[in-house]
Amino acid sequence: MARYTGPVCRLCRVEQQKLMLKGAKCSSDKCPINRKRLAPGKDPKGRQGKRSDYGMQLREKQKLKRIYGMQEKQFSLFFERALRMPGITGENLFVLLERRLDNIVYRLRFATSRSQARQLVLHGHIRINGKKVNIPSYLVKPGDEISVKETSQKMPVIKDALKEYGRSGVMPWFELDPDTMKGKFLAVPRRSDITDLVDIKEQMIVELYSK
Ligand code: SF4
Repeated sequence: MARYTGPVCRLCRVEQQKLMLKGAKCSSDKCPINRKRLAPGKDPKGRQGKRSDYGMQLREKQKLKRIYGMQEKQFSLFFERALRMPGITGENLFVLLERRLDNIVYRLRFATSRSQARQLVLHGHIRINGKKVNIPSYLVKPGDEISVKETSQKMPVIKDALKEYGRSGVMPWFELDPDTMKGKFLAVPRRSDITDLVDIKEQMIVELYSK
């Protein structure tokens, strides 16, 4: 299936939830969700049909898939891998998604959104342990050092994104030196550590794929 290329904010309006797909705009007054615009197709008189279990499970899966900027095929491959891992499948899925290189570049504040991070990776601006890796779905391991290529460190898009670091820091499972643009993935997070995605009900996604 082709990558979604339509208006990104529409995805949040469909889910009636902020998926934080557009960097700084998401926390500003320009976010359409803050302006309470109706979801596409929503009844203007407020009549809402009750969603079936399947409908709710599908929405949870779509939300998580969109947050991490993935296509259906790749998302289901991640799920299959999570299923084969020991432990709780929903939590395993989160752990795998968090280990994606594009997600880690975003979490380290080298980009203001996961889609921007994906572009940085694809264009070869990111190094892992000093070696170029241009695969957004590459799974980073604890102990790996993630850095911006020396000649890319002057890029305004990266410098601007890093300004955010001073305000909000990085998640506790990372270490970041913003001056050298080097970060370290210290440990795999637990599901409970991923506090910005507490609203996602991963058990529903497991139920959806178990049908
Ligand atoms: Fe979603 Fe961000 Fe657009 Fe708001 S600005 S609707 S959070 S993508």
